[in-house]
Amino acid sequence: MRAKLIAANWKMNGSFALIDAMQKVLSPLLDETTCEIVICPPDVLLSSLNNKVKGSRIAVGAQNVHSETSGAFTGETSAPLLQECGVQWCIVGHSERRILFGETDDFIRSKTETLLKHGIRPILCIGETLEHRESGNHEEKVIAQLVKGLSGLAVDDQKRCVLAYEPIWAIGTGKTATPEQANSMHKIIRKELESLASSEAAENMQILYGGSVNSENAKTLLSQSEIDGALVGGASLKINAFPQIVAAGS
Ligand code: PEP
Repeated sequence: MRAKLIAANWKMNGSFALIDAMQKVLSPLLDETTCEIVICPPDVLLSSLNNKVKGSRIAVGAQNVHSETSGAFTGETSAPLLQECGVQWCIVGHSERRILFGETDDFIRSKTETLLKHGIRPILCIGETLEHRESGNHEEKVIAQLVKGLSGLAVDDQKRCVLAYEPIWAIGTGKTATPEQANSMHKIIRKELESLASSEAAENMQILYGGSVNSENAKTLLSQSEIDGALVGGASLKINAFPQIVAAGS
């Protein structure tokens, strides 16, 4: 049985005050939920979040990392430093990093490797554009990202990764993939994991759905057999919506 994982991607939003507010509204849920909860704020908030949630079932996640562990990379953050801030998870391959910052599959793969070496679990995002979906190439596109993202990693390392299927046309647009569209892509991803890793890995690896998840659609999406959680952007900033999404996965 795969546990549900609900990850909040605050992107370039949030504040010290939001950490306090979110912790307050989530704490009544923590004893009863079966979900793993990960909050990924901007880097400058990581230590403060860690001080607040240490020892609870809320884990700290980062949104990005550099593949190198030190050096002249102005503005970047290394995996060892993330580790010092209490980071247990890190998003890699988000479509905003791929599109706005030109990140390639190779670069994403080397970040994944670096994270694993430093005991941080990657949340590897994969997903197709609207153009790919409309031309029927979406499966091919998503599988190519998956294969490039995990290639060359030992199976035990692949098993430490969580995948997030995020159709780009559904991110921040209010358009959600239907539960059937998402579930069917998750099935295809899991099938590919069988040959890429092993049947045991495929059975146990969590595949999250991301793309305009909110408090209204979370229950239906999270009740699909292949959907093991959600990567939530916009709604993860709302103190009256994120706890409901966590409750929907419990
Ligand atoms: C995301 O940023 O990963 C995301 C899914 O955003 P949103 O929920 O706002 O679509």
